[in-house]
Amino acid sequence: QAKLAGKNRFHLFDASQNQQEIDRHKQVNDIKTAFHGQQFCLYYQPKVNLKSGQVVGVEALIHWVHPERGLISPLLFMPIITASHLEIEVGNWVIKQAWQQLGAWHNQGLSLEVSINISGYHLLSPGFIEHLDATLATQPQLASQFFQLEILESTALDELSAVNKVIKACRDQLGVKVALDDFGTGYSSLTHLRHLPVDCVKIDQSFVRDMLGNPDDFAIVESVISLSDAFHREVVAEGVENHNQVNVLLLMGCELAQGFVIAKPMPADDIAGWTQGYQPHSSWSLLVEQNIS
Ligand code: C2E
Ligand code: MG
Ligand code: MG
Ligand code: MG
Repeated sequence: QAKLAGKNRFHLFDASQNQQEIDRHKQVNDIKTAFHGQQFCLYYQPKVNLKSGQVVGVEALIHWVHPERGLISPLLFMPIITASHLEIEVGNWVIKQAWQQLGAWHNQGLSLEVSINISGYHLLSPGFIEHLDATLATQPQLASQFFQLEILESTALDELSAVNKVIKACRDQLGVKVALDDFGTGYSSLTHLRHLPVDCVKIDQSFVRDMLGNPDDFAIVESVISLSDAFHREVVAEGVENHNQVNVLLLMGCELAQGFVIAKPMPADDIAGWTQGYQPHSSWSLLVEQNIS
C-alpha cells in the first residue's frame, strides 16, 4: 500500500477496498468470538496401512461447529485465520487439544499416531519449539514420536533454511515426526525432498484423484512413491476415494493412505469404535495376496 500511495494517492480512498477491509475485519471478529465461545473442534481422519490392514493413525482437522450454519470446513475459515492475529493462538489450541486426545487414546490402549496441520507462519514464529516442548511436557509418559506435524509443501518455498532448522529441532530435540503435506504442488518438490529432513511425504490429493484418467498425474504419483522410497521417507496417499485407486497404489508400492474410501473425518469419540470395526475391503487383500504369490 505504501508503494501504491506513492504512485497514486487516490487508491488510499478507494471505497470498495475500504469495504473489503471492513468485511475482513468483521470476519476475523466473528471467528474470534466463535473460537473463544468453544465453537471449534477437531475432527479426526484415519490413516491406514492398505497392505496390513492396520489403522496407523489419525489426522486432526479443525472444524467450526456453527450454531446456525452447522459444520464449516477449514477451507472456508482457515485462510481468514491465517494472516490474522489469531493464527498462533488457534494453532497452539490445536496442538494442545490433539496432544491431550492422543494421551486419552493411549490410556485406552489405542496406540495411534496423531498428526496436526501447522501453518508456516506459526512454525517459524519465535518460541515455537519452546512452546511445543512445554505442551509435550504436560504428558511426560506419552512418547512424542506418536505426534506428527504436517507442513504444507508451499510453506517451505521461501524459507527453506529456516524451515529446515525448525524441522531438525522438532525431530532431534523433541522427537516429534514431521510430514510434508500436499506434496507435488510446490514448484520445486525435488529440492524440498532433498533438503528437508522430513519423516513422511503426503501425495497431494489432486494427483491421486485424477491418476487413473490422467497419465501425467499417474506418473507423478508413481514418481513420488519411488522417490520417497529412495529417500527413505514414508509416503501417504491422500484423498483416496475408490477401490481402483487403492489397488493401483498397492501395485505402485504405496501402503499408507487416507481418503473417503477408508473413512471421512469424524469426531474424536467415534475413533475407538471405528478402529475396532475397521476391516480392509476384500478386493484389496485379494490383490495383495496375488501380488505376493
Ligand atoms: P489437508 O491437511 O491436506 O487435509 C486433507 C483434506 O482433504 C481435509 O479437508 C479432508 O477432509 C479432505 N479429504 C480427505 N479425504 C478425502 C477424499 O477422499 N476426498 C476428498 N475430496 N477430500 C478428502 P478439510 O478438513 O476441509 O481441510 C482442508 C485443509 O485445511 C487441510 O488440508 C489443511 O491444509 C487445512 N487445515 C485443516 N485443519 C487445520 C488446522 O488445524 N490447522 C491448519 N493450519 N490448517 C488446517
Ligand atoms: Mg494435512
Ligand atoms: Mg494434504
Ligand atoms: Mg490440502
